[in-house]
Amino acid sequence: RAKTSGRGVAAFFDAQMDLEARQRRQLESDLRHAITRNQLYLVYQPLVTTVDGKVSGYEALLRWTHPDRGEVPPDEFIPIAEDTGAILPIGDWVLRRACREAALWVEPLTLAVNISAVQFQVATLEETVTSALMDAGLAPDRLELEITETALMKDRDQTIRVLHALKERGVRVVMDDFGTGYSSLSNLQSFPFDKIKIDRSFIQTMEDDEAARSIIRAIVGIGKSLALPVVAEGVETDTQRRMVQEEGCPQAQGFFYGFPGAGPASSAQLSASQANSGLIAGRVASHA
Ligand code: C2E
Ligand code: MG
Ligand code: MG
Ligand code: MG
Repeated sequence: RAKTSGRGVAAFFDAQMDLEARQRRQLESDLRHAITRNQLYLVYQPLVTTVDGKVSGYEALLRWTHPDRGEVPPDEFIPIAEDTGAILPIGDWVLRRACREAALWVEPLTLAVNISAVQFQVATLEETVTSALMDAGLAPDRLELEITETALMKDRDQTIRVLHALKERGVRVVMDDFGTGYSSLSNLQSFPFDKIKIDRSFIQTMEDDEAARSIIRAIVGIGKSLALPVVAEGVETDTQRRMVQEEGCPQAQGFFYGFPGAGPASSAQLSASQANSGLIAGRVASHA
């Protein structure tokens, strides 16, 4: 009997793995059509200056509406896109779309775009960024590219070269999710970053955990001595807002300030509303 149930369990796990493998293959192939089938879109989350709470820019975050599964989170589909190489056309699409949208914003706010490690491994990233900016008519100093530390480990020399080339074009580069994973302080020395984003895990534990708060303080200190502004990610409460401000983070981001959403008003919306109000005014005038 033990044998039978053992076989039963093994068969169950086989079936389970089979199902997972099939689901993953299905997602892989669905992802290849996601762009042309208009299933991808971007949401924008504000970044604020802590001293006055003013919005200084927005981070573009990718979303995928799957026809059967609904919203698939990026933490699930980005790794798949990286494995299959689909991240290259998708990454291009994100850059072009985000730059075009940001060029329409009424105020000259900054635009942050996440770049995957895979995009650094191909020779075309610099060209893609340049042409996305040119086609959109967006000034390079409006764009910030966010790279996680894990991404830096793939091919250090190549990544450093590309980062320098991008910076020469006037684009800023940001180290994302700092303090987790393959964190190393030498990364701050070797890579020409303009800004550091502290991973949200530290911010989310800082209220109860003195160690998290000390680490934030230390990262801000390192940032100050390297002249790198430090952004606090994942600020959800007013207490966290006050604490990161006290610790000297010049910028912050998180649900407390704003959820990822439609982004700022665009000049297209503005001219549409002006046209509408003009229409109403015109009607009122003609009735008068
Ligand atoms: P990230 O670049 O670190 O983006 C921040 C993530 O934290 C976003 O999750 C955002 O919605 C979430 N977040 C912001 N504030 C808060 C908060 O106060 N509390 C909590 N719990 N979460 C908060 P999202 O949109 O699910 O994206 C997850 C990750 O997927 C991103 O992390 C980024 O690494 C990746 N990703 C998203 N869009 C793109 C993209 O266009 N290209 C690439 N390569 N990666 C992307
Ligand atoms: Mg990011
Ligand atoms: Mg982050
Ligand atoms: Mg992240």
